[in-house]
Order: sequence, then C-alpha cells, then structure tokens
Amino acid sequence: MSTAFLTHPDCTNHITPNGHPEQVARLEHIYRALSAPGFTTLDRREAPECEDADILLCHPQSHLNAITAAVPSQGVVALDGDTHMSPGSLQAARRAVGGCIAAVDAVMAGEVGNAFVACRPPGHHAEQSTPMGFCLFGNAAIAARHAMERHGLSRVAVVDFDVHHGNGTQALLWDEPRSLFIGSHQNPLWPGTGMPEETGAHNNVQNWPLPPHSDGRLMRATYEAEVLPALERFEPELLIVSAGFDAHADDPLAQLEWTESDFVWLTERLCDVAQRHCAGRVVSTLEGGYDLNALAASVAAHVKVLMERAG
Ligand SMILES: [Zn+2]
Repeated sequence: MSTAFLTHPDCTNHITPNGHPEQVARLEHIYRALSAPGFTTLDRREAPECEDADILLCHPQSHLNAITAAVPSQGVVALDGDTHMSPGSLQAARRAVGGCIAAVDAVMAGEVGNAFVACRPPGHHAEQSTPMGFCLFGNAAIAARHAMERHGLSRVAVVDFDVHHGNGTQALLWDEPRSLFIGSHQNPLWPGTGMPEETGAHNNVQNWPLPPHSDGRLMRATYEAEVLPALERFEPELLIVSAGFDAHADDPLAQLEWTESDFVWLTERLCDVAQRHCAGRVVSTLEGGYDLNALAASVAAHVKVLMERAG
C-alpha cells in the first residue's frame, strides 16, 4: 500500500501578517520538498472541505459561528495576538479538518497504509470555544472523534511531538476515555501548560515536558522509557500524530535541538507501535515548524519513513 498525501491549494489562501511565522511559504516549501523524485509514489489527494458536523464533533456551534463571523471581507484580522484570519482562512481551516477526516477514512478503508495531511491553519492549540496559537479548529482531536464516532473505534491514540504543548487537543479529548493523548514539548515555553500532573479525566492524558536546549538524546530516552510503553499498553486501533517540526534545532520559536534524524527515529518508533497493534494505521497531520528549510527537510524525512512503512 501507499502513503496518502492530503492537501489543497485553499490552504495557501490563509494569509497571516507579514513576518508571521505561520505563513504560506511553509506549505510552498513542503510542496517543493515532496516534489522530489523519491516521492513520486505518494497517493496525492485533495483535502476535502469538512462538514459542519465534523467541526461539531469537538466544538460547540457557537465556536463555529464565531469563527465564521470573524472572516474579514478583505485584509487580515487578529483574533488574538498570534491568531489571524484572512478572507480565505475559513475555507483553509475547513480543508484542514476535512483532510484529517479523509485521511482517517482512507486509512480505515485500507485504501492506503498511512497518511500525511499538510494543511494549514494547524489545530492543536484550538480549544472548545477559543481559537489560539495560530489554530482555529482542533484538526487532530476532530479526526480522533471521527474515528471513534463513525468508525466505531474504542482506542485511538494521539501523539503530539510539536515543541509546543497541544493544549487544544488535550482539552478536546480530556474527558474522552476512548482516546489516549500523549504530548512531548519544551517547558518552559508558551502556552505554559502540559505538566505531568495533567492526566485527563480518565488517566487518558500524558505530558512529557522537555527542558530548553535538550536534544534528541533526551527525546529518545523519554519516548523509549515512557511514551512508547504507554502506547503499547493502550493497544491503539489507530494512531494519529500531531506532527510539529518546531523542535528542530534551527526553529526560531523554541530551543530544543532535534535534527532530521531524530524525526526519522521518532516516526519509525511510532510506526513500529502502529504495525504491532493496528496494521500500521497512522494519520499524521502538520502542526508547527517555522524554519522553512528545516521544516521542509524534516517533513520529507517524516514522510519518507511513512512511505517505507506503508507496505
Ligand atoms: Zn509548535
């Protein structure tokens, strides 16, 4: 089987202010990297626009209404100091949700072995009623709920290795006993949450803060000692990955010192778990990563492993 690659040109119509790190060029660099000869066998698919009901799996109608009402007719509006919307942002965000939903469907149907969704805006900071940290809707959490509600899964794991804590995904899945959310992230760092004592309503949340300037050795040790054994015990039927690449040493927003080879190692280990428990079913969705060259190289390395493991 192959690896699905889901994206849509609409995701480049989400415009942020000049100098904003979450910029259109991120996707352009990813597209260029994945146009190299080694990626010709990717199963390239358009990320469909989601339905309202998809967003409502995790957010109240009032949040969808507020985001819809915030769309400007021109220019860029700020929802907070970090999070912006342009005329194309709602459509882009609906593609980001829809891409994750379609990726789950394709993997669950056995059409592809695994999938990578490269849409924006990202999602892991969006809480139930609060857009936050460049994010409007909780893409990964919605994908997890979709897998549970519509594919009948009872054990969906979400691993978030973005350098920032996935506070939104954690909030959206906090009281969801069918999911296990595990995040690793730099601490101290914005948004300041993600402490080990945040364990969810059903012991279904794990947080592994990593100190600034730590490198891939501590990441690997933490995953080997804690994260991977927890995933093994959970025996997931589907593994969703919030793939942020801002733990890279070159990233301007944080101070972890991972390299491309660390993302390769981590992707391999996550695929190992998926192969043992759920026929390799992995849906990975882009979150952060703000040094354009490091982002492109890291995404390419991540996707290469997914392709090798898709069978
Ligand atoms: Zn991040």
